[in-house]
Amino acid sequence: MSVPLLDLTAQYRALKPQMMKEIEEICDSQRFILGPKVEKFEAEAAAYCRVPGACGVTSGSDALIISLMAENIGPGDEVITTTFTFFATVGAIVRVGATPVFADIDPVTFNLDPADFEAKITPRTRAVIPVHLFGQCADMGRILEIARKHRLLVIEDACQAIGAEYDGRRAGSMGDYGAFSFFPSKNLGCFGDGGLVTVRDAARLPKLKNLRNHGQSGTYVHDYVGGNFRLDALQAAVLSIKLPFLDEWSSRRQHNAAEYEQLFRDAGLLDTITLPGLAPYPVRHIYNQYSILVPGGRRDELKAHLAERGIGCAIYYPIPLHLQKCFAGLGGKPGDCPVAERVSGEILALPIYPESTTEQRAEVVRAIREFF
Ligand SMILES: *Cc1c(COP(=O)(O)O)cnc(C)c1O
Repeated sequence: MSVPLLDLTAQYRALKPQMMKEIEEICDSQRFILGPKVEKFEAEAAAYCRVPGACGVTSGSDALIISLMAENIGPGDEVITTTFTFFATVGAIVRVGATPVFADIDPVTFNLDPADFEAKITPRTRAVIPVHLFGQCADMGRILEIARKHRLLVIEDACQAIGAEYDGRRAGSMGDYGAFSFFPSKNLGCFGDGGLVTVRDAARLPKLKNLRNHGQSGTYVHDYVGGNFRLDALQAAVLSIKLPFLDEWSSRRQHNAAEYEQLFRDAGLLDTITLPGLAPYPVRHIYNQYSILVPGGRRDELKAHLAERGIGCAIYYPIPLHLQKCFAGLGGKPGDCPVAERVSGEILALPIYPESTTEQRAEVVRAIREFF
């Protein structure tokens, strides 16, 4: 039995007739850019994330960039973030001309370590970008408190965490801005690239909407130098169809995680590998990824073993960002973020997608037991 890391076809098959009808309607209208479909999805997504408003954009990467642009964060400014995240979090900081400052992670959640974040604050720090990695919220209580004390802006990178909660509050509703991605492999994915910025204060919305359309406040009237960050109608329509199913898909991911735990326990593997940990604060983890830790330097060997048996798995992320070649100029060196450096050598993501079956999970666990 082969077990893919992710299979989007089941979800697509179920919704295809509705999708095709919507897509045909948009093609017939030939209205592709922004417009009523995008406005409708923005309203639905804002309600889902429990924020007063949202701005649809081209990708999660651009959601981060446009949030930084809206606050005029640029050269001379420092932005603190986790070294253990997808590249785009840090790429966005560099793209606006600001300087990323890397902080280490919590060993259980793999999210920004609040104490290390606070230790990295300087008079030049303008903002912090906590990432809700793999679908579990960072320690927002402490992060918001530190940010408030130092008057820092908070941009949540919620690209992997739509619907995740910290103490009953939705990802993207706690900071000043929330950045979301609808890349196909995220829990809510479109048919290409797409993204969204949420705001806690509706007063921040008009500037975002200007910036995503070259800073235009009226036809060929430009208030700012923005860019083309527009979400298109086809993507918005697909997302509007999918959004009502998101909670069900997230519960199935949670169910699958619970099943893995039972299977690993029954297999006697709980002392051998570390399962994804839940934060000590109340969270709704939506498991965009299910990442185990494989100690003893055997992760790559296990990955090869699983691949040979047709089991999909992946490493998010093999190199912490402070050690990436493109950031060498920032002076990062091994030992700067010891937790992230250890975790990046041990982590391995297993299939967790909603439609994956109990038999498939049993197969994954069998193959891992066979390896050890
Ligand atoms: C996916 C992702 C992004 C970027 O989103 P895109 O839509 O691919 O540009 C940013 N940050 C994190 C943590 C992500 O997982």
